[in-house]
Amino acid sequence: MYAMTDQASTLSRYREITQHIEQARKNSPLAPARVELVAVAKTHPAGAMLSLLLAGHRVFGENKVQEAAHKWPVLRQLYPDIELHLIGSLQSNKAREALDIFDVIETLDRPSLVDALVKERARNPGRCREFCIQVNIGEEAQKGGVLPAELAALLAHARAALPVTGLMCVPPAGENPAPYFALLHKMAKEHKLAKLSMGMSGDYETAIRFGATHVRIGTAIFGERE
Ligand SMILES: *Cc1c(COP(=O)(O)O)cnc(C)c1O
Repeated sequence: MYAMTDQASTLSRYREITQHIEQARKNSPLAPARVELVAVAKTHPAGAMLSLLLAGHRVFGENKVQEAAHKWPVLRQLYPDIELHLIGSLQSNKAREALDIFDVIETLDRPSLVDALVKERARNPGRCREFCIQVNIGEEAQKGGVLPAELAALLAHARAALPVTGLMCVPPAGENPAPYFALLHKMAKEHKLAKLSMGMSGDYETAIRFGATHVRIGTAIFGERE
């Protein structure tokens, strides 16, 4: 169950965050005219989304195809203009399902995944109309994303067949994220990509300072995950 009191506190945290985003945006010379908040719903039930939906929010993120498939079709019947982003790694065998569920896939990270998506799209276009490349910006062994040195090759491959609009990253935990955000900003500029998905609950204001167009925020809106 998701109690009314939970809905109320989710809504007030959401309102606070949107104000912080707008403040950071106004203070940043690199910031775009609008910074999009991707409300990260992972592990939280469909009911937890209602207060945001009622308040007019439409952009959400999930990190798992299966979880999104359970949660969003019902909400979409109520709110057809929901925009759902995949922000977790995607297995090639789930490419078809992901194309049907997500509007934006932010986690292209290898040529074989691009090929799988292109093949499925040729058969059935699905709903997905935008793709971003995830960059392993801190070159961490356990992290998803393409290595910075391999970005240009992957981008050339992906752009030839898919609408690629931006870059996404998750900087190393426990480090100052600023240099990583600056680096991703530079890469997007070099490659003429308009969208920059970076910044989470703990560092979204810093990300906006370095030109984030999309911030992905879960905990600061919905509370701690189990
Ligand atoms: C979970 C997650 C987020 C949101 O993280 P919070 O710290 O809860 O705001 C953002 N981006 C990705 C890729 C995630 O997996």
